[in-house]
Amino acid sequence: MGDFLPYGRQSVVDEDVEAVAAVLRGDWLTTGPAVARFESDLAGHTGGVPAVAVTSGTAALHAAYAAAGLRDGDEVVTSPMTFVATAATAVLQGAKVVFADVEADTANLDPAAAKAAVTSRTKVVAAVDYAGHPAELDELKAVAGDALLLEDAAHSIGGAWHGRPVGSIADLTTFSFFPTKNLTTAEGGAVVAAGALLERARAFRNHGLVRDKAAQRYPGEGPWHQEVHEFGLNYRLPDVLCALGSSQLERLASFKRRRAEIHARYTEAFADLDGVRTPVCRDGADPVWHLYALRVLDGRRRAMFDHLRELGIGVQVNYIPAYWHPVFEDLGYRRGLCPNAERFYAEELSLPLFPALTESDVDRVIDGVRAFFRA
Ligand SMILES: *Cc1c(COP(=O)(O)O)cnc(C)c1O
Repeated sequence: MGDFLPYGRQSVVDEDVEAVAAVLRGDWLTTGPAVARFESDLAGHTGGVPAVAVTSGTAALHAAYAAAGLRDGDEVVTSPMTFVATAATAVLQGAKVVFADVEADTANLDPAAAKAAVTSRTKVVAAVDYAGHPAELDELKAVAGDALLLEDAAHSIGGAWHGRPVGSIADLTTFSFFPTKNLTTAEGGAVVAAGALLERARAFRNHGLVRDKAAQRYPGEGPWHQEVHEFGLNYRLPDVLCALGSSQLERLASFKRRRAEIHARYTEAFADLDGVRTPVCRDGADPVWHLYALRVLDGRRRAMFDHLRELGIGVQVNYIPAYWHPVFEDLGYRRGLCPNAERFYAEELSLPLFPALTESDVDRVIDGVRAFFRA
């Protein structure tokens, strides 16, 4: 049976450890030069659109919504096929979340469903690049109209859509650097945006503090003076973790390549199985495969999950439709709202996918899936 194989795992090498240790020995543990360096390194992967580093993907979403000016009475149209934070942070800003259904094959926000959900109160349309495959960003941008397009790219840093890198397309793009994601800072995230949106996200990360005398209301108060114009939080990512991020970014391209190889091996190995469906890839999409989202048909997902777990293969399910969480149910959201998302959830099973998987690990997963249908 072998050791337990997780479904996702970080790749940390000696250079990463050295980069972190160097910061620990220096003067700046936080608010220092490694933060600006990580932000500019990130911009090297977003087509030059600048980034603000924050403490998690959730903090990135919260800061992005705050930057968009989201507040009471506003609406956010989003996908239910996501981690709950995409919707929860909008609710915490006082907004009403309107879930629109996903495309049956990619599980990304369906532009037609989003269009039907947009009203004059919509301030943000929040797409999710499910499994690392970019959403229909051009159509969604058009659907958003005067509202802003936010791309939750927690799965897709390093990807591209019709030749343009993720981060260069939506008005606001957010990343997560949790250990299972495509690169890690342990906990961490970033908001990518241009101009005033970026500056508002940057202020929100640091209590909304205004230090620029020219922008202050009471600049004569004294050299020590800083003032708050809009409420914010402390979402600052420390230098220690930014150094890890910069070091990891150097290997993003190789992570992407290895993830694609494993993804292709799974898809090839399951091509002849009638009981499963393998992931699709749209023309123009250059995904960073964060998840391998196998679909197990005929109501057998739970049985396959139990079968693989018994073999020590750490499968996962991504995701329960966000509005199934009791917190949304208690707000009046009902099952049946987004049928494509609910069917996708009923069939989805994420297989182990991370760069350090060996060929024999991949064989073991393939054998495990195939054995289920021989039994
Ligand atoms: C992981 C994830 C988040 C939250 O990121 P954290 O860094 O864990 O806070 C948000 N959205 C999606 C789609 C995610 O996968």
